[in-house]
Amino acid sequence: MEKDIQRFIDYVKIDTQSDDSSSSVPSTAKQLNLSRKLQEDLKELGISSELDEFGIVYAKLPGEENLDPIGLNAHVDTALECSDFDVKPQVIENYDGGVIELGHGYRMSPKEFATLGEHVGDTLITTSGDTLLGADDKAGLALIMATLDYFVSHPEIKHHPICVCFTPDEEIGRGPDHFNPKKFGAQYAYTIDGGVYDEVACETFNAAHADVILHGVSIHPGEAKGKMVNASDLAFAFDHALPEKKRPQFTSGYEGFNHLVSLVSGVDEAKMHYIIRNHDRNLLEEQKKEFIAAKDAVLKQYPTATIELTIGDDYRNMKEVIDQHPECVEKVAKAYKEMGIEPKWRPIRGGTDGAGFSFMGVPTPNLPTGSYNHHGRFEYLSVKEFHILKQLLINILKA
Ligand SMILES: [Zn+2]
Repeated sequence: MEKDIQRFIDYVKIDTQSDDSSSSVPSTAKQLNLSRKLQEDLKELGISSELDEFGIVYAKLPGEENLDPIGLNAHVDTALECSDFDVKPQVIENYDGGVIELGHGYRMSPKEFATLGEHVGDTLITTSGDTLLGADDKAGLALIMATLDYFVSHPEIKHHPICVCFTPDEEIGRGPDHFNPKKFGAQYAYTIDGGVYDEVACETFNAAHADVILHGVSIHPGEAKGKMVNASDLAFAFDHALPEKKRPQFTSGYEGFNHLVSLVSGVDEAKMHYIIRNHDRNLLEEQKKEFIAAKDAVLKQYPTATIELTIGDDYRNMKEVIDQHPECVEKVAKAYKEMGIEPKWRPIRGGTDGAGFSFMGVPTPNLPTGSYNHHGRFEYLSVKEFHILKQLLINILKA
């Protein structure tokens, strides 16, 4: 197995799931097993690194001093939706375009996963059906290491100073919490945490949330007539008062959504948690007003009920920052062009560490990893795309 891909396989075998119910930093100590492994691999390349008290790895490969230092970052943790314990990656060489038997009764067919059709003849790395793969974002880590390896082994090729940062806890939204832009030292950076090889993201959602506590009137059901107000009914009424077509399952592209994440409900009290998303800040503000209108509508229908509605902001669209620094976008366009590829500029329908970094002074678009179907057992990596993306990073960074 070639070294670049062997690293990827080594990384996915290390269990690094984060935990949103933990308040420690990082949220799980096991993430540090990979952070330390990354330090060893950096050391092997002759690059010294620091693992700080928050579990973030920083490293630097010096380059031409008259060029802007450019950053690369990726995250060590994996998603919570599916286990990443004891990942046993399968390497499928010269993929024939057929059904892939993952194991544990799971199979992946091009009928359900149309992107597989793009990979005939390619080498794919899949799961064994019982875990996720963790290409999100271990493919990002392996790509950064492969790029550093390239410049270390080709000292004759001049390049920008390269600043590296590996964060824990991205999947639970805490990646940028303890990020130190000074230590990182980059003028601008790229998060290597996307999917398809030609899709670049310079935009994220603007994000807010709403917490709703609805108080009903609880009374013995035998004597409830004309008196009981069931808080569960209030919750249903509240949700129905919001525009149905703005639920995530009806939206794509630049369409925002209001998403009911949780509902805990009894007769006396119901609690609802929503996340509110839109790429456009004005439209996000409009969506917030929909929650106020829903509250008013429920109270009109149930005058003896009370409702506490709290709306707060979470993160902002990084486009505001990146638009001020066109050079970091132009670099990407030029690097793709050198390979004869026309990149697609796609908004992220979620967050990224790069959004946090951007608002901390380091504009950070998101680049792909060549991996698909993140956060589950159907996740896979295209080795061909991995190599295209390694070349992309080399093109971006060379002098
Ligand atoms: Zn990721």
